[in-house]
Amino acid sequence: MLPPNVDTIAAVATAQGRGGVGVIRVSGGDIEALACGILAKLPAPRLATYSNFLDANGDTLDQGIALYFPSPHSYTGEHVLELQGHGGPAVLQMLLQRCLDLGARLAHPGEFTLRAFLNGKLDLAQAESVADLIEANSAEAARSAMRSLRGEFSNAVNKLVGELIHLRMLVEAMLDFPEEEVAVDDIELRDTLLSQLQSSLQNTLDSAIQGSLLREGAQVVIAGQPNVGKSSLLNRLAGEELALVSAIPGTTRDVIRQVIQIRGVPLHIMDTAGLRASQDEIESMGIALTHQTLRRADLILILLDASQGITLEDKAIIEDLPADIPRLLVMNKIDLLQTTSPDLPGSGSFVRVSAKTEVGIDELRVKLLEAVGWRPQESGTFMARERHLRSLNLARTHLTQAHTVLTNSELFAEELRLAQRALNEIVGEFTPDDLLGEIFSRFCIGK
Ligand code: GDP
Repeated sequence: MLPPNVDTIAAVATAQGRGGVGVIRVSGGDIEALACGILAKLPAPRLATYSNFLDANGDTLDQGIALYFPSPHSYTGEHVLELQGHGGPAVLQMLLQRCLDLGARLAHPGEFTLRAFLNGKLDLAQAESVADLIEANSAEAARSAMRSLRGEFSNAVNKLVGELIHLRMLVEAMLDFPEEEVAVDDIELRDTLLSQLQSSLQNTLDSAIQGSLLREGAQVVIAGQPNVGKSSLLNRLAGEELALVSAIPGTTRDVIRQVIQIRGVPLHIMDTAGLRASQDEIESMGIALTHQTLRRADLILILLDASQGITLEDKAIIEDLPADIPRLLVMNKIDLLQTTSPDLPGSGSFVRVSAKTEVGIDELRVKLLEAVGWRPQESGTFMARERHLRSLNLARTHLTQAHTVLTNSELFAEELRLAQRALNEIVGEFTPDDLLGEIFSRFCIGK
């Protein structure tokens, strides 16, 4: 049972603005007095109860449905009261104020879910997926967040932790006999189990990378000479007129960002100022910005003008690009080529498109997804975050390290311990408070 001294929090749980229904959510260790104050009685558990919502004088502020979920069978694990009233900002504000007058305090962002986490209703990865589900901008992202919320990701991580604990037990039993040399059989067993663990970890990491791509998206820069059609292509991909299109070279002076969704994967596409030396001060600033943006990109889409072929300027641009960032070569304006004209020399590896006629744009979308590493999985992916990838990578590093110290039980055990700690952080065991604060502060109020 929960201690009754947990303070009571309240918030409007529905989105701001007007709507048919607005929900106030209250959670705490003892909410009976509050419920009696506003409803004149504590409603029967888990039964939709039509009720008057009363002010301090007993006058009706609103009428609606009250739902009471006694602890522990509630979202937060505490006693929860939900008031479904009319969804107008004034009426909801009055109801909320009434709850505050009756002793509740305003909930912080994500505090209901934080309490659910602290009361063991959800682990941390699941709690994060609640926010991801709310923020999902595509059906694919929403489905993946739901898979994480149901625990698919957490289960994969917990399975890894289980395997790790098994291996640690084998090794730590030996730490009590440090003077004894480790038998060859034992080393082989360590080797086998560790290799299995590494391969399971890699599988989970691969899935998590997909999930993270779905959540965070990829940064794609369109680079190329002025007038090759960068803005036009961006407009095509975005499906709306966004960048300024003009036939005068050098009109795109800013980095223009647009997020497009391809099969639910957000691509943050940046169109850049033409990469050419310029006397114009503003344009030169644009070029400096381009170089900065390029270095942070996941993919550079190099755009060329098919009617010009590959020019010396194009070659100079390509040579100037950071060598370690993947590239996709795209030949635009293929509508200007005679259908009978032979392929441009070496153009086999180019994606050929026309931003004007839209030829090749669908193929480009597919190629873009491949190039940023999207590998749709048949079973569907679960949602993951940058934070999870960091932890999985850290665990992987420790397992690799462990492989180099197979014969040294003490060092081996220490690497396994560190790997387990990294994995535990994903589901929120031993997660530092400041990290929890950071995660939950990004939630909306009322969730
Ligand atoms: P940017 O400077 O690289 O951003 O190029 P813009 O998108 O401003 O395009 C420069 C010019 O090329 C404009 O007149 C566009 O209409 C034209 N253009 C862009 N794409 C195509 C294309 O696929 N085919 C043809 N024929 N013209 C295009």
